[in-house]
Amino acid sequence: MTRDERRLLVIGQGASGLCAAVAAMTSAQNAGLHLSVTLLDAAPKTQSGGNSRWSPSNIRLEADYSVAPDFVEDILASSDGLADRSYFQKLADHSSSMIQWLIDMGVIFQNPPYYLAKGPSRIQPVGGGQAILDALTAHAKTLGIQFINEFKMTQLISPENQVIGVIGLNSLGENQTLFADSVILACGGFEGNSEMRKTHLGAPAENFTLISPGTIFNDGAGIQAAMAIGAQVSGDWAAGHSEPIDPRSQGSAPVVLVYPYGLVVNSQGQRFWDEGAGWMHDTWEKFANHIQHQVSEKKVFLILDSKVTDIPNYARAIRSEVPPISASSLEQLAQKLGISSEALMSTVSKFNAACLEIHSEFNPSSKDGRACFPEGQPPKSNWSRIIDKAPFLAWPLVGALVYTFGGLRTNEIAQVLSEQGPIKGLYAAGETTGNFYKIAPNSVSMLRALVFGKISGEQAVADFLS
Ligand SMILES: Cc1cc2nc3c(=O)[nH]c(=O)nc-3n(C[C@H](O)[C@H](O)[C@H](O)COP(=O)(O)OP(=O)(O)OC[C@H]3O[C@@H](n4cnc5c(N)ncnc54)[C@H](O)[C@@H]3O)c2cc1C
Repeated sequence: MTRDERRLLVIGQGASGLCAAVAAMTSAQNAGLHLSVTLLDAAPKTQSGGNSRWSPSNIRLEADYSVAPDFVEDILASSDGLADRSYFQKLADHSSSMIQWLIDMGVIFQNPPYYLAKGPSRIQPVGGGQAILDALTAHAKTLGIQFINEFKMTQLISPENQVIGVIGLNSLGENQTLFADSVILACGGFEGNSEMRKTHLGAPAENFTLISPGTIFNDGAGIQAAMAIGAQVSGDWAAGHSEPIDPRSQGSAPVVLVYPYGLVVNSQGQRFWDEGAGWMHDTWEKFANHIQHQVSEKKVFLILDSKVTDIPNYARAIRSEVPPISASSLEQLAQKLGISSEALMSTVSKFNAACLEIHSEFNPSSKDGRACFPEGQPPKSNWSRIIDKAPFLAWPLVGALVYTFGGLRTNEIAQVLSEQGPIKGLYAAGETTGNFYKIAPNSVSMLRALVFGKISGEQAVADFLS
């Protein structure tokens, strides 16, 4: 290394880390700065990329890549006003150019064939998160960025409020020190760490199912290492995004999202919540968290009859490759599910009786207001329809954790903050940073990983030059 060369370490080869590395190297080359960039990842090469690798990556942007006029306000509203306006305004301001940056690297975007409920406008990379990682990785290699796998960063070296390197466990299982002029933490949240889940999300979260094979690598080590040198935290440490999945599936993220059109019962055959409270993308997180935190067996059953197959494109909302459990009568269905047929019959007959009071039309593509109030059960606010047409169908469902909301406090140029201000030489992006509160804003997590990953890399170089 020459005297003029700077060295940047980026921790994590997911979307935010790759954006950080590519942006830093590009900025440095444009400025004539001699920079070496190394991207470290705890996972082996074939498994790196964390959540990004498995993410369909729906991104909340209009078809022309612009942000909707209510983008920032809507996100602030979903956080009960707790989220940082300047962070999300910056996200909005940089979104379109971010997408163009990826298009220039060969990523193709499409309008996603999204589930059933339309929700906010979204775009999606063809090939999902893997396509984003592939394009960025290929570009990173042409820029001379180094990749090191099976290096789990555990500690930051930081004499006097300045980060000068990391310590981690290498592929030989030995502690290794790597020195650098700056470090970018892009190593996910703490969803893969059972102890941290238990401490922050509550005891029932200790054995949360994880949504994808990449999620386990995000064990909060980056967040903890930064906290150990005085970094502040932000975001909702008691919350995380989860989704209802079919536990029989061997695939990644086998979500089953037709529950608003049926009944959900526990293993006693009883309903316990309002399945039709809102659109799937507004209720899925609450539903999945409820299964994990409130249902003692942590598993429930979605019950439908064959009328569900009349809903146009209903299969889009079912990503499990395992067919539903099917039976010609409700009694038989209950037996197959291992629940009391008497209890299930009683739940369904009370529900059906309440449905007979409704006279408006069933409409799966609008909130149809078909509310019913079955005796001794929670109400169902929309899409209430009698369950009577064989074959009767059931899917077992569990909650699966995707990512956590608590993380490091950063400013809008991705510098990690301590009480004294930015920690010199330390940046963070993506899930490692805490920006979400209460409920995950739909289709925003990948976008913020991309945008703030790029900002962190550009800022690290700007700080070298200043
Ligand atoms: C199945 C699924 C569906 C999703 N759907 C959507 C969606 O439609 N829209 C959306 O916006 N978001 C979605 N998300 C969430 C979104 O994809 C992620 O939040 C985002 O990709 C996170 O990017 P990241 O770079 O912050 O972290 P990651 O992509 O998780 O990358 C973190 C990397 O850091 C590495 N790492 C972790 N700890 C260490 C350590 N100590 N040392 C070294 N390396 C370490 C990991 O191995 C990993 O490669 C989904 C996620 C999943 C899993």
